[in-house]
Amino acid sequence: MQVKFWGVRGSIPSPGPDTAYFGGNTACLQIYAEGQPVIILDAGTGIRKAGLDLLKNHPDKKEIHIFFSHTHWDHIQGLPFFAPLYIPGYTVTIHGPMQYERTLAEILDRQMEYTYFPVRVAELQAKISYTELKEQEFMVGGFKASSKYMNHPVLCLGYRFEKGGKSFVYGTDHEPYYNYLGDDETGEEMGLIIEEQTQRLEEFVKGADLLVMDAQYKPEEYATHLGWGHCSTDHALDLAIKAQVKRFALFHHDPDRSDEDEKAMIERLQPELKKASHLKEIFGAREGLVVDI
Ligand SMILES: [Zn+2]
Ligand SMILES: [Zn+2]
Repeated sequence: MQVKFWGVRGSIPSPGPDTAYFGGNTACLQIYAEGQPVIILDAGTGIRKAGLDLLKNHPDKKEIHIFFSHTHWDHIQGLPFFAPLYIPGYTVTIHGPMQYERTLAEILDRQMEYTYFPVRVAELQAKISYTELKEQEFMVGGFKASSKYMNHPVLCLGYRFEKGGKSFVYGTDHEPYYNYLGDDETGEEMGLIIEEQTQRLEEFVKGADLLVMDAQYKPEEYATHLGWGHCSTDHALDLAIKAQVKRFALFHHDPDRSDEDEKAMIERLQPELKKASHLKEIFGAREGLVVDI
């Protein structure tokens, strides 16, 4: 299988000369595998080019599955610009975490009300359906897949896809579980829950050939962003090492992060490769990059 990055930025698109190397579009990835349906992860602004690529280079691929990690703007905002939605003959299944206030369909429909966008969902020509997910195992085409809750201010899912003995994990918009009740007796029960959740996340990521993980902050920046729902580079690397991942891609780059600064962050992590023999590569996700797994 192959994974292609169409958008790697977190929070808000950040185009411009300072971000041209990694790219300014928000979260969107695609998984390619021979004879399989199209699988897209998140619909940040990167999905616009993914749609144009499908029309131009893969016109026979009409079955599309879009998996949303969650419904924050930087993960849904490109959806109205995904061209296959406007063409009869396409079947688009939209998967995402079950939410409690509104259905996934309602949330996505709302950003296409006339107040925000000139075309309504009802006017789209593709056949669209929705699947709401919790933590579960499922099949999509020939892929064995599973979902796991991340630690984020809204229900957010990470995804694992496996095929032909290879595995890929997408874990975005997550920060380590922390005990806000403290380490004393008051926080004892919560401490145990955190331990269990941390363990379960490691199991979910275990042995992945590629882990794409939220690594928005430098370790020194994290202290002022506690509770925002994102990892520091050290948090993400720690997970990659403990879960014995083979390749680790930093993802969800901060919109204020210049290419130069991002490259320096990645460079700083390279000595870790010598300490963890299973880990073969640490790199930054960037727009247009295709990774063979
Ligand atoms: Zn995000
Ligand atoms: Zn988010």
